[in-house]
Amino acid sequence: MRILGFDVEYVSMCDPSRVARVARQSRRKALTRNRKLAERLGEDSILLESEHVRDQLQQVVNTVGHGACDPFSRCNVCNVKLVSVERARVKGRVPEYVYTTHREFSICPSCGRYYWQGTHWEKMCEEIRMVVEGEQNESK
Ligand SMILES: [Zn+2]
Repeated sequence: MRILGFDVEYVSMCDPSRVARVARQSRRKALTRNRKLAERLGEDSILLESEHVRDQLQQVVNTVGHGACDPFSRCNVCNVKLVSVERARVKGRVPEYVYTTHREFSICPSCGRYYWQGTHWEKMCEEIRMVVEGEQNESK
């Protein structure tokens, strides 16, 4: 989800009341497969119908709208918005082959991780495209 640019926080599912509180206070939606919890949270939650991540992604994109989706804008670890950095600044900080084969780099201001559009990135793009295309097909 973070890779899609959603503002996500993981909460232990052991404590439903805590999930409810976090969802309300942070004005986020709780993604859950727990029907009781979803009923309790009402509009603050999305009850995930599928066990499969791709279907869950699709459901979330359908629910919150495609516009809320901003791929690769957040650190996958810290959930912080990435900042783009000049290519010259990452020289020596990322593997040489990455530096020579990529033009655009971002950094997480929190943990200092560098991000670039690598193989993993392309794989995720493919995944996201399938989700988005699935959405478009449904609206036809
Ligand atoms: Zn980070």
